[in-house]
Amino acid sequence: MKKIAVFPGSFDPFTIGHEAIVRRALSLFDEIIISIGANALKKSFYPLETREEMITKVFHNEKRVRVDHYEGLTVDYCKKNGAGYLLRGLRTAADFEFERAIAQVNKAMAPGIESVFLLTIPEHTPINSSIVRDIIRSGGDASMFVPAAIDLKDYKGFED
Ligand code: ADP
Repeated sequence: MKKIAVFPGSFDPFTIGHEAIVRRALSLFDEIIISIGANALKKSFYPLETREEMITKVFHNEKRVRVDHYEGLTVDYCKKNGAGYLLRGLRTAADFEFERAIAQVNKAMAPGIESVFLLTIPEHTPINSSIVRDIIRSGGDASMFVPAAIDLKDYKGFED
């Protein structure tokens, strides 16, 4: 059976930390669906379509990666897409505690889906989307933190 993983997240914006997790996970799975959780209550900086476009650019040469979005429960989305794995990245102990609870609750709801965690490489530990957004909002150059295929000058975020 095809091993399909969903990599869910806000990706607001997608960073080199996210990219590295997906590229490494390609050796574990046949297909990875990077799916943006569209949360109506959480205001994003970049519109959903912009985030999808950015991620699509990064993986346009990789046929085993698909970009999508979803609403509702992540495990329901996995089932709908025939995905048996949920991929997440871990940077710190704080990430671990947060992810542990979500993964255990997901396991209780959907025993057939396994959460798989990849530990980030040390250089990517401090990189998170919220800091990247702060740099962009303040007019700084955040290009070193996003994949080379994404030119931040092409995109406009929402102002808070
Ligand atoms: P969420 O809103 O679900 O936390 P994010 O876009 O912040 O979504 O992150 C998606 C996933 O990528 C999470 O598992 C997060 O821990 C992981 N991640 C974020 N930044 C990094 C990084 N620099 N290195 C490795 N994993 C990361």
